[in-house]
Amino acid sequence: MHTRFSDGTFTPEELADLAHQRGLRVLALTDHDTVDGCQRMGVACKSLGIEFINATELTTEWNDIELHLLGYFLDTSNELLREKLGEFQGVRQNRIREMAEQLNRIGVPLKAESVFDLARCDAPGRPHVARALVQAGFVKTMDEAFSKYLKKNKPGWVPKTKINAADGIRLIHQAGGLAVMAHPGLNKSDDLIPPLIEAGLDGIECFHSRHSTYDIQRYELMAEKCDLLVTGGSDCHGMNRGKPLIGSIKLPYAYVEKMKERLGTEVSPN
Ligand code: AMP
Ligand code: ZN
Repeated sequence: MHTRFSDGTFTPEELADLAHQRGLRVLALTDHDTVDGCQRMGVACKSLGIEFINATELTTEWNDIELHLLGYFLDTSNELLREKLGEFQGVRQNRIREMAEQLNRIGVPLKAESVFDLARCDAPGRPHVARALVQAGFVKTMDEAFSKYLKKNKPGWVPKTKINAADGIRLIHQAGGLAVMAHPGLNKSDDLIPPLIEAGLDGIECFHSRHSTYDIQRYELMAEKCDLLVTGGSDCHGMNRGKPLIGSIKLPYAYVEKMKERLGTEVSPN
């Protein structure tokens, strides 16, 4: 799930409260290209008796296809991880400036500063630009902002410089974490998975709020066949059609135990 430390709209404390209301026993925060919200989220979860997993969602690429890698159980003080995340955040910030410049060129006078003021985080992204466009009255909705300006090949689109997925897996591993491919069903290319397994991928996110039953079945089979961990998440970013997605995807605790076994740590809920 995501908080205001990337493109979510809830604070870590609000998200922890919602998790508690929905009866979640364990959760992971997977803000894009940052672990900065993990400390607050860990404290909030602890006070509510929820086990918390330090995590992130790295934006990576494989053969020019954008691919999101979840890193679970990270040592958030790992130096190389912190250094690399700092670089990725710099890329995101420069990209916001480029997006604003491109929009200015086609007569949409959006200021990068208004996006930064609204985002107030180190890992800003297109949803923040979309919100700023809505707030300034250039479009009526986030969807309109994406379809008119921010989708690939639209005038405000700027590609992100991304690390190679194999390097992403290595970065996660050296920080003590497990590397899991996020929402493979949204990539629409299962061919990506075998080379990632070769590169050390630990698991795939079989359960996701936007996966079809067919996706879930296909990836569960693949996980079994390839000895991959199975994970799941709502990918909650805030309110979605009037309610938050958090709690819409629930997995038995056994899946967390399997992750811990793979890490070689003792299973100790809380
Ligand atoms: P970025 O990482 O900056 O490229 O932004 C990607 C984020 O934009 C993802 O978290 C998506 O969920 C979000 N996104 C993509 N399309 C839309 C849309 N039509 N409306 C709202 N958010 C979107
Ligand atoms: Zn996001």
